[in-house]
Amino acid sequence: MYDVAIIGCGVVGAATAYALSRYDMKVVVLEAENDVAEGATKANSAILHAGFDPEPNTSMARLNVDGIALAKQICDRLDVPYKICGSLVLALSPEELPHLQHLYDNGIANGVPDIHLLSAEETLQREPNLSKTVQGALWAPSAGIISPWEYALAMIEVAVRNGVELRRSCPVSNIRKKDGVFSVSIPSDTVEAKYVINAAGVYSDKIHNMICKPSFHIIPTRGEYYVLDKNEGELVHSTIFQCPSKVGKGVLVSPTVDGNLIVGPNAEEVGPEDRGCTAAGLSFIAETARRSVPGFSLGDSIRNFAGVRANVDTGDFIIGEAPDVENFIDLAGIKSPGLSSSAAIALEVIKIFQKKRVLPEKKKDYKDGRKKIHFKQLSAEEKAKLVHEHPEYGRVICRCETVTEGEILNAIHSDVPARTIDGVKRRCNAGMGRCQGGFCGPRVLEILCRELHIDPLQVLQDRDGSYVLESETKQGGKHHV
Ligand SMILES: Cc1cc2nc3c(=O)[nH]c(=O)nc-3n(C[C@H](O)[C@H](O)[C@H](O)COP(=O)(O)OP(=O)(O)OC[C@H]3O[C@@H](n4cnc5c(N)ncnc54)[C@H](O)[C@@H]3O)c2cc1C
Repeated sequence: MYDVAIIGCGVVGAATAYALSRYDMKVVVLEAENDVAEGATKANSAILHAGFDPEPNTSMARLNVDGIALAKQICDRLDVPYKICGSLVLALSPEELPHLQHLYDNGIANGVPDIHLLSAEETLQREPNLSKTVQGALWAPSAGIISPWEYALAMIEVAVRNGVELRRSCPVSNIRKKDGVFSVSIPSDTVEAKYVINAAGVYSDKIHNMICKPSFHIIPTRGEYYVLDKNEGELVHSTIFQCPSKVGKGVLVSPTVDGNLIVGPNAEEVGPEDRGCTAAGLSFIAETARRSVPGFSLGDSIRNFAGVRANVDTGDFIIGEAPDVENFIDLAGIKSPGLSSSAAIALEVIKIFQKKRVLPEKKKDYKDGRKKIHFKQLSAEEKAKLVHEHPEYGRVICRCETVTEGEILNAIHSDVPARTIDGVKRRCNAGMGRCQGGFCGPRVLEILCRELHIDPLQVLQDRDGSYVLESETKQGGKHHV
């Protein structure tokens, strides 16, 4: 029997597993998909929000500000790409200026460090490529950008290295409780645990309702994006927001950690699996984004994608033990800024265990930290030495991003191994560049076949069923376009 079963391995499940892995307890993570970070965690704006958006005195406000401070420490420790580039919220008309003041007041109340209001001139000095109609801005220097899937991957990898069991392709279909023990049904097995943690994203209400009285409802809300090539990546140096609306933080334009420019999202209520992009959504994004940054070229778009937010009818994150089922803990309705808040959300779980006086001792042999080889970031001498010792680093597979066979092998043989072409991409960037895997995809497929001893017909692009050679990998909006 396990002490804890975590349902869902997005960034919240991964952060929770990482936090719990320090303690002497038996933890299993059950993930429905064949890889981690396949939900909202892989398809979002990738911003470490400063924390001025949430209304003061909400869980969201507190955990956002605490969460990004923790995220920076974790990224340094686990070799996760991030950059503190600051963010600007623009007022694009005089009527929007009072809204900036409201966000500023929120920010001060929430403890966001160093925020201040800028005049139009100061804003344009900071970002000359903004629309000349800008009236002023809120500047938050503590905001940043991050690789969201790598953040989740890094945390679950370290958790697994320290004894947490990760079971992929294990959708939970039922939960029962008898004599204080939960029985969690997954295909052809039942997992028993003393505590269950619900981190199932857009399905967190369904998981909750399997054992608890319904008390909240998830409203899946899609956001679509453009990713532009690296030649557009310097157009702005910080994340540019417009004034937010009720459904989201509005359309942003931001650099990414890989040097691209991201433009989006919109906000549209959809089904939880509606991850396809639409012509109408994309054209709304482009038109709206041009109000703040007029000069980007859609001719440089290399990818569109969409993610689905777990918006919730209660407004705030739902974090805590269910009132009607002891030892069942919800981490639900984790919409934006959930990525930024995830490490602090995980610590809430630790506090719950502490309060219940069930947190065991810390492991004495805990191995924290993680270091990856990023071939293209090495000096010429370091590259030469590495290639001499390990010739697989001398074979560049992805030319756009300069990813070597050695890095792909590391992805396939890591603590949470890549099993699909997109799994390799998320772990080492092969296929992330301008040609989007057009050239390296077939070579990555060959390497997967060789290393996993599988037939090419069995290789998946990404989610179950996306056989690269036999099926439509973008069929029915199931996979990102
Ligand atoms: C468009 C968009 C933009 C966003 N931008 C930002 C941003 O810039 N900054 C920010 O801080 N936040 C942002 N967010 C929010 C952030 O992405 C989420 O809060 C965060 O990723 C939520 O993580 P999660 O682990 O709760 O959910 P998910 O990543 O969705 O993970 C849930 C996991 O549960 C699994 N699961 C579901 N059902 C089952 C089941 N029955 N059995 C087993 N497993 C199951 C899923 O497969 C999935 O892997 C954005 C979100 C979206 C969609």
